[in-house]
Amino acid sequence: MKVIILGCATSTGVPIVGCNCPVCTSDNPKNKRTRCSLFIEKNGKNILIDSSTDLRFQALKHNITRLDVVLYTHSHADHTHGIDDLRTFNFVNNMVIPCYANLQTITNLKNNFGYIFDGVYSAGGKPQLELYVVENNFDFDGINIIPVEINHAQWMILGYRIGNVAYLTDCSGVPDESLKKLMGLELLIISALRYTEHPAHFNIEQAVEMAQKINPKLAVLTHMGHEVDYDTLLSELPDNIVPAYDGMEVELDEP
Ligand SMILES: [Zn+2]
Ligand SMILES: [Zn+2]
Ligand SMILES: [Zn+2]
Repeated sequence: MKVIILGCATSTGVPIVGCNCPVCTSDNPKNKRTRCSLFIEKNGKNILIDSSTDLRFQALKHNITRLDVVLYTHSHADHTHGIDDLRTFNFVNNMVIPCYANLQTITNLKNNFGYIFDGVYSAGGKPQLELYVVENNFDFDGINIIPVEINHAQWMILGYRIGNVAYLTDCSGVPDESLKKLMGLELLIISALRYTEHPAHFNIEQAVEMAQKINPKLAVLTHMGHEVDYDTLLSELPDNIVPAYDGMEVELDEP
């Protein structure tokens, strides 16, 4: 099983257009962050979590030419606005892509991208997507996918556990029921926006505290803003917690 962090930025991306701060002007490639999404290859299936604004660029960079399924965490722009680029995968593989999300996200996707789901033929072509509401654990082609409800300000959004990997982005809280689903992880990817607090996102201190509570073998912090310098944060974190960088790959010892 292979996991690639395609993007690890908050909604603005890093660098931010017009910003001259030390991180935005840094030469360190690990401070160049595209919008947040995750790629998982398991049992020969390619799983994308969120179609970020930067999906096309990320797919080209990693030579991803097929997506078997897309899992959505929530409907915020940075996690969904690459949705139109899913049509390229339809063309290349001649297949409709199943997309899974909670009911709120599906409702918002249909409202925000009405042209995709209105059933009207368009000469330019539209993404061919089938939407499925996630309520419980489900099986996708032999892969057990466990939705994990987490708080994102007032919203309940979804994280996902697949095998011994869990992805919790845009997280501002983890209910007790969800914590039970996160025991025994090899890899936890969890969002950590910046040093100061934010109503909708864990800051670094809160993400580290949650990671230590969940206690995976390795925790990776993602969805970071331009307040976060990669090398500085790396030097501040405990041994089994590291900041993400775009293109970070983790191979796991499961099929
Ligand atoms: Zn986000
Ligand atoms: Zn900046
Ligand atoms: Zn969000």
